[in-house]
Order: sequence, then C-alpha cells, then structure tokens
Amino acid sequence: MLNINFFTFNVFEENTYIIINEKKQCWIVDPGMYDKRETQKLIAFITDKQLQPQAIINTHCHLDHVFGVQALVDTYKIPFGIHQMELPVLAMAENSSAMFGVPFSGTPKPTFFIKEGEPLKLGDDTLQVFHTPGHSPGSISFYYKPGNWLISGDVLFQGSIGRTDLPGGNFDTLIKSIRTHLFTLPSETKVLSGHGPETFIGEEKKYNPFLK
Ligand SMILES: [Zn+2]
Repeated sequence: MLNINFFTFNVFEENTYIIINEKKQCWIVDPGMYDKRETQKLIAFITDKQLQPQAIINTHCHLDHVFGVQALVDTYKIPFGIHQMELPVLAMAENSSAMFGVPFSGTPKPTFFIKEGEPLKLGDDTLQVFHTPGHSPGSISFYYKPGNWLISGDVLFQGSIGRTDLPGGNFDTLIKSIRTHLFTLPSETKVLSGHGPETFIGEEKKYNPFLK
C-alpha cells in the first residue's frame, strides 16, 4: 500500500507530493522547493522518516513544479521522469522564471519518459498514468486505485481547472482530458491537485463550474 504526504512550496503555492511504500522507498512528485530553506524542509522529512528516494516523477514541467529537481538529483542521484511532450515546456522553464521574477538556474535533463499505459512501479505497488493534456501538452495524472486517489497536477482543481493561456495550453483539450480520463474514475476518488486543497471526482462532477 502506498501512502502520500505533501508540502506546499514557493510563491506559487505549489503542492509537492511524496509517495511512500511499505519498504520506505519513495517517489517525489513535482518538487517545487525554491530556496535552501524549502529544500532543507523536504530533505529533513526524508531523513527523519528514513526514506529512500527512488525517482522524481513530474505531472508537467511549469517552473513552479520543477524548481527543486536539481537539488534532489544532486542530493540523491535519482532519475527524473516526465512525459516526452513536456520537453519544450521544460526547456522554457528557465527563461520564463526571469519573466515571472523568480530566477532559477534550470533543471537537469529528464532521464526517462513516462507514457500513458505504462504503469509506474514502486516496489510491488503500481501507479496508472493518464495523458491529460490541455494545461500543457505533456501533462500526466497519476492514479492509485487501491488508495482511491489521483494526482492531477494542474489539470483539475477544487472548483476550477488549469489555466490554458500558457504556451501549449488548449481549453477544449483540457476539458476533454478531464471528461474522458478523470471523470471516468469512481466518484469517491480523492483528487490531489498541483495547487490548493484536495477534492473528490464526485464533488467536481457536481460543482465544478467549468464542467457542468
Ligand atoms: Zn502548471
């Protein structure tokens, strides 16, 4: 069984998730630590719980989701996985950081690609991968059926959806991703978003103004 913890990092209040199995192996999803203080906080958590980081897996590569990748690769020498269609977004992150007034020196290159239909294995546990473009071209969502939860990145939020005005974004594509992938999951599935509080598929089907 997988457990999940999260931290909220950087000025964009991005949620960084840590997925942990019973052997204390873990994945870090969307490491958003911007400065030393935030990096120390995550590393202290990993050290205190005696976790063994196995990989970084990203839902997408907007800058607020990749600020902390380099620090984790330096510290733990772990692989970094993204969807291949997210490569141009990752390449832009360094430049857009100056535009947003939050300079950073970029990330290492990804070391593996994550694909829909190719489950991710952490020991004996498996995450399903959905390709859910629209907020960005290579956005992916991670679904853990035994725990009834989904990491949705910036695709779906409580009462909202991801913005589609950034390069590679498309409103119709985003709505389609949500309807065809996320809204086919059980209503009781907990949605863990890239920003803001958790929600449930059933709640969003009922109340999300973008999806009525
Ligand atoms: Zn984003």
